[in-house]
Amino acid sequence: MDEGVKKMVMIGIVVVGFPLAGIIFWTTRGSNRNQEIPADEMQLVKCNNPACGASYEVSMREYSTFQREHLNPLASSAAAMTCTKCGKPSVYKAFKCAKCEKVSLYGSVPNDFGDRCPECKFSQMEADRKAAQEARGQ
Ligand SMILES: [Zn+2]
Ligand SMILES: [Zn+2]
Repeated sequence: MDEGVKKMVMIGIVVVGFPLAGIIFWTTRGSNRNQEIPADEMQLVKCNNPACGASYEVSMREYSTFQREHLNPLASSAAAMTCTKCGKPSVYKAFKCAKCEKVSLYGSVPNDFGDRCPECKFSQMEADRKAAQEARGQ
């Protein structure tokens, strides 16, 4: 290809391509985020009321919509959902330990991985991170 034509093509890509990428990024970011969550994706939640302690799954879309509508910008913690069992606003995001299968509230252990199991101290995030580090080291 002629050098001059090559340069023209390059300029064309830079001038047209970059703003286009920006527009795509901006529109996908600004769109309804719920669309990106698969309809069948579930979020495990647990009731923090000691007298109840129920744990069940809610649809991820429902959970994220609730969080967006009820989140207090001044509070760093997630908004509590109303428990379907005891009716108290004490339901938070939870996880099931991959090792001992106990359901615990997400972030049970302060200043640690969110999925640190308070029961057996296992954390899937930590295990994944370690595995990734080991894979990189080889
Ligand atoms: Zn409850
Ligand atoms: Zn555990």
